[in-house]
Amino acid sequence: MSKEALIKSRYWEHKQLEEMTDDEWEMLCDGCGHCCLTKLIDEDTDELVYTNVACNLLDLESCSCSDYLNRHKFEPDCIKLDVHLAKTLPWLPSTCAYRRIAENKPLPFWHPLLNGDKRKMYRYGKSVKGKVVHERNRGDWEEHIVVWKL
Ligand code: SF4
Ligand code: SF4
Repeated sequence: MSKEALIKSRYWEHKQLEEMTDDEWEMLCDGCGHCCLTKLIDEDTDELVYTNVACNLLDLESCSCSDYLNRHKFEPDCIKLDVHLAKTLPWLPSTCAYRRIAENKPLPFWHPLLNGDKRKMYRYGKSVKGKVVHERNRGDWEEHIVVWKL
């Protein structure tokens, strides 16, 4: 089925993550870039903290991976999200489409699948666009701790 036909079918409304084809799975990603940011564990409290430091492969304009197919060659720690991880990773943002479908929630109104492109997502500040720096350009970690309002 073509991408257009898949979008028209609104497959995300009647399929569980387990039932999705590879194409459907890939299209579900909104490309927000939040999963491409470094997370840290606070040494004193064991608490998970978020940063505005992005993987060096993240395209900071489009918030997409600049070499998705070969990414593990350059970033071996990059996680390949699957159904199990979508249901269990504690740091996935509440807006993440995989997390939302796993929790039987609808896609957010600004999701590119509902709007044809990422413009609404950018307008509502739901991506990391304009808010992050590459790992290679970061300063001390303390300067990069953030709380994302999503
Ligand atoms: S957080 Fe979820 S929806 Fe956003 S880029 Fe990562 S996998 Fe895709
Ligand atoms: S390699 Fe690509 S997909 Fe993986 S964290 Fe980096 S930018 Fe994101």
